[in-house]
Amino acid sequence: MAFEFPDLPYDFNALEPHIDAQTMEIHYDRHHRTYYNNFVGAVKDTPLADQSLEDIMGDVSSDSAPAVRNNGGGLYNHILYWNSMCAGGSSASDALSSAINDTFGSQEELQKQMTQAGLTRFGSGFAWLIVQDGKLVVTSTPNQDNPLMSVADQQGTPILALDVWEHAYYLKYQNKRPEYIEQWFEVVDWAKVSSRYSSLA
Ligand code: MN
Repeated sequence: MAFEFPDLPYDFNALEPHIDAQTMEIHYDRHHRTYYNNFVGAVKDTPLADQSLEDIMGDVSSDSAPAVRNNGGGLYNHILYWNSMCAGGSSASDALSSAINDTFGSQEELQKQMTQAGLTRFGSGFAWLIVQDGKLVVTSTPNQDNPLMSVADQQGTPILALDVWEHAYYLKYQNKRPEYIEQWFEVVDWAKVSSRYSSLA
């Protein structure tokens, strides 16, 4: 199979004013494309070229080639990040809302924990909402690791991805990661998160 460079599901300016168009363009067209190009180069003519990206991520261990771990992670993580947002945000399904309330007590508490995960991730990385053995869990990973990898502290299937690399927010927010995360929640596509949750239930 061929790995394709994924479409951005909206225009660069769709998430304004929360995420600015210039950040989106550079993030998607340069950062994401570089991960894609390097990943395709790393798996070319290897057995990995015939596997799915999810399977490759699931097989990443501390022994994996850094080019596969970092660039494959960069490809996978950004696809989920783009598909965690939409213009104006959207609402969670009843099923996901119930699960959030059961697990965290409230939507606000989930967002508080997700914010904390993003703020305490030192340097670069991602905060995640994952499904682990049928349960919702908030976690974070460094660099371009993700919870599909055996190297992650918490393993599971990610349904919501928050990029906290400075390239995700620096042009508009500079060092103010808390403000970026607060604004990011305004454009979270909870409907898509709900679909991913339902597909795992
Ligand atoms: Mn990024």
